[in-house]
Amino acid sequence: MTRLTRADLDALPAYVAGRTVPGAIKLASNEVPYGPLPGVVDAVAASITGAHRYPDPGATALRAALSDRLGVDPDRIATGCGSVALTEHLFRTTCLPGDEAIYAWRSFEAYPIIAATSGATSVRVPNTSTHGHDLPAMAAAVTDKTRLVIVCNPNNPTGTSNRKAELDAFLDAVPPTVLVALDEAYREFVTDPDVPDGLATYGDRPNVVVLRTLSKAWGLAGLRVGYLVGSPEVAAAVRKVVTPFSTSATAQAAALAALQASDEMQRRVDLITAERERVVSAVRKVYPDVPDTQSNFFWLPLGDAATDFAAKCEESGVIVRAFAGDGVRVTISSPGENDAFLDCI
Ligand code: PMP
Repeated sequence: MTRLTRADLDALPAYVAGRTVPGAIKLASNEVPYGPLPGVVDAVAASITGAHRYPDPGATALRAALSDRLGVDPDRIATGCGSVALTEHLFRTTCLPGDEAIYAWRSFEAYPIIAATSGATSVRVPNTSTHGHDLPAMAAAVTDKTRLVIVCNPNNPTGTSNRKAELDAFLDAVPPTVLVALDEAYREFVTDPDVPDGLATYGDRPNVVVLRTLSKAWGLAGLRVGYLVGSPEVAAAVRKVVTPFSTSATAQAAALAALQASDEMQRRVDLITAERERVVSAVRKVYPDVPDTQSNFFWLPLGDAATDFAAKCEESGVIVRAFAGDGVRVTISSPGENDAFLDCI
């Protein structure tokens, strides 16, 4: 058969999304269980009447609202179709074929796929024995070909976080010619004061960008809105690379409404972080090796038993996310859904 697609894609694993099974409890995709925030459904309905028009490509109102919330100029912000799309844009903004991108492993499964399709060479730095990023090793992996380093804080799927002293030393060690992306998709769930807000703490460093999303704490996973904050130069370059109109009018309207419901967002996050305490301490009675988590999920380092464990949970109507041969990631949800998981173990 005539080959019409790139041969190297054959070896590339497809992105595996958490499965949705009708009637089952889904603890597989780090979503929040509470439905859209107040005002979102009305905003979406209102925006649909303009669906025959293209959206504002610059997401001006959304960037202004983010600018107010974050205390940074709108010219430092780029929005995209989820922060996963912005991660892809970041590769296209920084890496030419053959350039190196460093990230920890295990981390967010989209990184190797995006790196491979962008032509960058992945440099994976193994996590420590306690499942967190080994930042000194990541800094030591920088070569003169490195263009991008991604630090996922908290890390998906292990939930671990890097603290301020480690991040300070890491950022001081990385040359200013290398862009460091702090992927803070789960930032809103961090309660440990030693885990720094990357934007507030490092946002003034020209070679740092922060990636965040409205998919998690803000409850908009289905509408696909993420944002990046960086220097005006880097943010402008990313805005050039973004697929035109990729943040839809409906997504922009929903995000604006969600941002206005920040008190309710915080109340929901507080419920989840309280449940996190309860669930993780119950789980540790059976599996003491669960690493500390600052996100809305936790990691069960089950090694070869991971796939069987997830299958057994599914038989009991609870979908969790297995990473074959490594571990299982479980989302913290409402008390009833969490209890269903605790019943499984
Ligand atoms: N970064 C991390 C670490 C994630 O876990 C996710 C979602 N799974 C994303 C980025 C992307 O989120 P979204 O594209 O929904 O904004």
